[in-house]
Amino acid sequence: MLTLDTPLIELHLHRLPRIGKKTSESLAVEIAAITAQANPYKSTVEDLLHYLPMRYEDRSNLARISELQDGQEASVEVKVRVGGIIPLKGGRLKMYEFVATDGEGQVRAFWWNQIFLNKVFTRGSRVILFGQWKWNKYKAYFEVENPEYELLTDEDEEAETSAMHTARRVPVYRKLGDYRTRQLRSIFHHVLANLPAELPESLPEEIVARCLLLPRGEALRNAHFPADDSPIDDYNQMRSAAHRRLIFEELFWLSMALGIRRSQRVKEPKGEYIEITDRVREAVRRILPFTPTNAQKRAIKEIVDDMTGQEPMNRLLQGDVGSGKTIVAVQAMVISVENGYQTALMAPTEILAEQHARNIKRWLAVGNYRVELLMGSMKAKEKQAVHNALKSGEIDVLVGTHALIQEGVEFHKLGLAVIDEQHRFGVMQRAELRRRGVNPDVLVVTATPIPRSLAMTVYGDLEVSIIDELPPGRTPVKTFVRGDDRRDKIYEFIREQISAGRQAYVVYPIIEESEKLDLRNATEMYENLRQEIFPEYKIGLLHGKMKPTEKEEVMKAFTANETQILVATTVIEVGVDVPNASVMLIEHAERFGLSQLHQLRGRVGRGAAESVCILLAQFSKTKEAQERLKIMEQTTDGFKIAEKDLEIRGPGEVMGTRQSGLPEFRIANIVRDQKILEMARREANYMLDVRRNTRETGTLIQYVRSQTRFGLARVG
Ligand code: ADP
Ligand code: MG
Repeated sequence: MLTLDTPLIELHLHRLPRIGKKTSESLAVEIAAITAQANPYKSTVEDLLHYLPMRYEDRSNLARISELQDGQEASVEVKVRVGGIIPLKGGRLKMYEFVATDGEGQVRAFWWNQIFLNKVFTRGSRVILFGQWKWNKYKAYFEVENPEYELLTDEDEEAETSAMHTARRVPVYRKLGDYRTRQLRSIFHHVLANLPAELPESLPEEIVARCLLLPRGEALRNAHFPADDSPIDDYNQMRSAAHRRLIFEELFWLSMALGIRRSQRVKEPKGEYIEITDRVREAVRRILPFTPTNAQKRAIKEIVDDMTGQEPMNRLLQGDVGSGKTIVAVQAMVISVENGYQTALMAPTEILAEQHARNIKRWLAVGNYRVELLMGSMKAKEKQAVHNALKSGEIDVLVGTHALIQEGVEFHKLGLAVIDEQHRFGVMQRAELRRRGVNPDVLVVTATPIPRSLAMTVYGDLEVSIIDELPPGRTPVKTFVRGDDRRDKIYEFIREQISAGRQAYVVYPIIEESEKLDLRNATEMYENLRQEIFPEYKIGLLHGKMKPTEKEEVMKAFTANETQILVATTVIEVGVDVPNASVMLIEHAERFGLSQLHQLRGRVGRGAAESVCILLAQFSKTKEAQERLKIMEQTTDGFKIAEKDLEIRGPGEVMGTRQSGLPEFRIANIVRDQKILEMARREANYMLDVRRNTRETGTLIQYVRSQTRFGLARVG
């Protein structure tokens, strides 16, 4: 009997129409690939059924040509009359087009460069076209560009056609391997028809009831073939009852996995407690170079509450670029030092570590603290001196890169570790740093402002503090998206700014795949600016392949306004703070993610002068890139930008899947589905806390552990 657990590789044994051995095998392979399952033999019917349609069409009610509106998205069934290939631009570009009719009116459909379509469609082909219909007022008919299409003339399927593919709500699938939507629809139809009427429920009954979820079998069936009276818009927005149930389930397992992981962490008390005496209060007040914002005050209070508690702090400090996270972290460090501990601050790059060290030395100069810097590029002798002073307890504050967690680094008494811009560091490094103290407090500082519920999911075991207010006196950075045709004007503008005493960044993207070429382009750009465009100014070049001492020189010169323009790659993305810089020109902006652009843009607008960020983009190819960049013109709110970025690229890309420790989702989207995520987390926590010792929870835990994607087996 066919069940949800049937391996796909054996699907053909169940004699479903047109599913032979080859189909079974290739389905198993394709599904294994998208579920990150290494072994195709393990892909099951259940996995297949989670390959949901990308959208749904109501074909019980296809649009008539005579009823189309200009700009409307609709499906129309037509018969092809004449088609052919049209060469354009001297043959460099080709277009396939046909003219077709539904018996009443005439339409034109065309596709760029897909000349194979000439063989797909013949005179008389019946086809359903889906796309945006535009009225051509010169020709007086509707046309559609690059529509999705589905041929209706496959003869051996003729009988199935009306039952499965037309005259109803039909699912439309993304291509899976070589399988197009029509074949997939037929496969799903037959698989579902041959499964038992009752499919086993995977969630506890009480949760299904409490959360008003559809039973699993019904959800899977409806998600592929919605009932005739179902709300098709809900389906298309993935918020039908069927989708809700499947999304809930996925997020519930994730929440269970995170809950189990959290409970595995042994909570040991700290070595000694932190106290806030009048002396400590005074010490903190003394180092403050400015009045903290309310958001900063709130954050430090939450941090102090953790630090004075019995268990080690494990907190994420989140705030937009320029919101003043550093000083909050430094206040916490002073509290720790005043209580007799050492503290460490770990930054992702040497430039940033250097800058932190410089600032912290300046701020802490009012007290009797010893601040040192430790980086991989330092001479062995210098490093050794730092190691010694650290071990003997002479150093109070150690700032550095991942050199802090290298062999030979031993603290006398580490009480607080601050990790800056943690999306660059993995969970492992966090553990490494923690290991170097007696359960030290850990504060992770990040400028990737992700929504709170998402942060809890990604970081799981971290408490979150948010700085949602910028220090006073900032003028928001003005942002413009421009094309190459405006380059001269832009250079003119930079010249004006520099003659007014300001400085400028010119940023060039370097991506791994084309690193060498990019680096050459960046260097050429630098030479061109230096020799041809701005010979009257001093220009610096900064990129990741330079020696640390060179980088340091370049940064110093720019900070001191000895160079007026800094040509840089994304090494300046995080943390660099030169308030006099008021212009940023980003080349090839279309190659950056939104969050990255936001980080880059955060390098200007740090002083009193109004700052400008120009995103120079090559749009010719992608309309989508232009739309995306427009968001940067519209808002400087890092939260909004992060949300958009997450929507567009997904959390894996934005935060790095490996570091975030998030499995890939089959259906859920943790940005779109935040409400369901909260509900799923509540239920999971309820099972793990209140119902901890029940058989039901035992079964759930066993299931989650058996799923390799949650990586719990290894943790043990
Ligand atoms: P980020 O949160 O991006 O790390 P920083 O900590 O580098 O931001 O702070 C950005 C700038 O704002 C720094 O120059 C810092 O000295 C300044 N700053 C921080 N807090 C305040 C405040 N409360 N009032 C005035 N300036 C502040
Ligand atoms: Mg910072």
